[in-house]
Amino acid sequence: MCLEDIIRAQTHGYPERLQPKMNLRKAECLVTLGKLQEASQTVSDLESDFAAKQTLAASSFQILQKNLHRLKKKVQEKESLPETFPPTLAKAFEDMDLKEENEQISSVSPSVSLCTDPLKGRCLIATKDILPGELLVKEDAFVSVLNPGEMPHHSLENKWDTKIAIGDLYCHRCLKHTLATVPCDGCSYAKYCSQECMQQAWEFYHSVECPLGALLLTLGVFCHVALRLTLLTRFEDVGKVTSKLRDEISNNISFPKSKNLVKMLNYDQEENDEVVKTPIPGCDISGKYENNYNAVFNLLPHTENHSPEHKFLCALSVSALCKELEAASSRALATGPNSSKLKATVTPELCADLNIWGVAMLRHMLQLQCNAQAITTLQHTGSKESIIANSRQVRLATGIFPVVSLLNHSCSPNTSMSFTSTVATIRAAQRIRKGQEILHCYGPHQNRMGVAERQQKLRSQYFFDCSCPACHTEELRTAAGPRWEAFCCNSCRTIMQGDDVLSCGNRSCTESVSRDHLVSRLQDLQQQVGMAQKLLRSGKLGDWQKSAAHLQKSLRVVEARHGPSSVEMGHELFKLAQVLFNGFAVPEALNTIQKAEKILLVHCGPWSDEIQELQKMRSFLLDLPPIPAGPLG
Ligand SMILES: [Zn+2]
Ligand SMILES: [Zn+2]
Ligand SMILES: [Zn+2]
Ligand SMILES: [Zn+2]
Repeated sequence: MCLEDIIRAQTHGYPERLQPKMNLRKAECLVTLGKLQEASQTVSDLESDFAAKQTLAASSFQILQKNLHRLKKKVQEKESLPETFPPTLAKAFEDMDLKEENEQISSVSPSVSLCTDPLKGRCLIATKDILPGELLVKEDAFVSVLNPGEMPHHSLENKWDTKIAIGDLYCHRCLKHTLATVPCDGCSYAKYCSQECMQQAWEFYHSVECPLGALLLTLGVFCHVALRLTLLTRFEDVGKVTSKLRDEISNNISFPKSKNLVKMLNYDQEENDEVVKTPIPGCDISGKYENNYNAVFNLLPHTENHSPEHKFLCALSVSALCKELEAASSRALATGPNSSKLKATVTPELCADLNIWGVAMLRHMLQLQCNAQAITTLQHTGSKESIIANSRQVRLATGIFPVVSLLNHSCSPNTSMSFTSTVATIRAAQRIRKGQEILHCYGPHQNRMGVAERQQKLRSQYFFDCSCPACHTEELRTAAGPRWEAFCCNSCRTIMQGDDVLSCGNRSCTESVSRDHLVSRLQDLQQQVGMAQKLLRSGKLGDWQKSAAHLQKSLRVVEARHGPSSVEMGHELFKLAQVLFNGFAVPEALNTIQKAEKILLVHCGPWSDEIQELQKMRSFLLDLPPIPAGPLG
């Protein structure tokens, strides 16, 4: 990617003064990629270039010379030592995966155990002290469906970007970012990263989904997840689950009425009272909890909490889907078993199972409201030529992660979650003491919403009243007085009171100020942040000092809003580090890189793009000869 950028920049008239620096960077990329032949070619080109032109300022010439020398050595080292990882890299690799698996729960670190609490139900508890950044859960989705239609780019700067939807950029099976997709022969909608992904998808679910494309888009992503879940299960535990269901159905004479269907779905809870062998729902006989259909099936459907309208809509969607499946199956039979691609999965056997499938799908539809997990990714926005990568989080897909679903909610969670294709990774975001519960945020985070809005969201979607510490203290504070619209006294930090003229709430303090004055200062600050963002987007090298100054201000705003160790703060520090790096402000850049790295390591792990970039920047800066801070040239 870096190389492409360089070639693009060179063909678009990059200033000649900076050409040597760029070529050096190119050589560096080539060395990192292991293209040693090309790298040494670039290096020798550079050398002859230096000899021909003496136009460079002495100081920058020295820097380039020194780096050139270093690169040459690197090429030689690499040539003599092929394909071995330096020890620091190897150590970071280990951290990508769980060093040891938990014996009780798959995909989980041994520092955690599964417990049940009479009030909260299932929960994960730390069995020893956990350090920030420690990997706690790494789980592949049991099922995932790409979200249809959301536009990844909203900028109108580039006409082409706005026409690309998520479905065109990511593999519909493994969610890998792909530019050259392989489309399905049957529908133009499903696209894959490779022939292999396409075949796998076809074999496991797409042969059934393909002719239902339009219906699935209409019914929504939850319905699609429920269908794919049952299709995937056909190849796994279908026997076990359907026989359980069949017993229930044969005991129920008036089966086809949906009223009874919904009631019937509670059967496993009644059963659990009698069966003492599996004390924790979702575990197998030996008490192990795994990423399998049994665990998915035991996620709570909250049947009693859903509104009748919601339950009716779910039942309607499922029956529409079953009707369509039945029709597709009989069409396949009519055209003969050999002439249709559908024969692989839609057979008379499927029709017989359809009733059982319908029940299972309805249960999954009801589970999804509380158990669906949004799979997100950081999407890089802003143009390629800009120095600073701008990024925002987009909802890529909807999935079910039975192990992640064991975690309860907190509005100020002690973990941080990220995704790589369909794999969810949860790390400790702070020190977690032995005996404390592992918590993550279901969406309403204290940094993004006030307490009233969070409580309302959690109650309507997840059916519980949040009593996390953040909600507790914030409710007390809200009861005491307003928070978001208040100003602090400049000298004693007490909340100011009054309408047009604000005076300090502290009686021994005499500060007073007009509201207009404060509001205009606030607007100034917001303008500064906007300016910084604009300068960053335009990405002119000469403006780096201005950009840095604006960013410092925006950093203070982000810190106040999201907290000093939030992931938002990490992204902001990353931007500042890039600006300082590009301006060759060495001590400031190193300092900022360290701060950004500390925060992002905890949230994103050692192999995230940003951490990698930060480490590259640092090693580059540390290799520079000691020169006074300031821009090059
Ligand atoms: Zn793929
Ligand atoms: Zn298709
Ligand atoms: Zn809360
Ligand atoms: Zn005061």
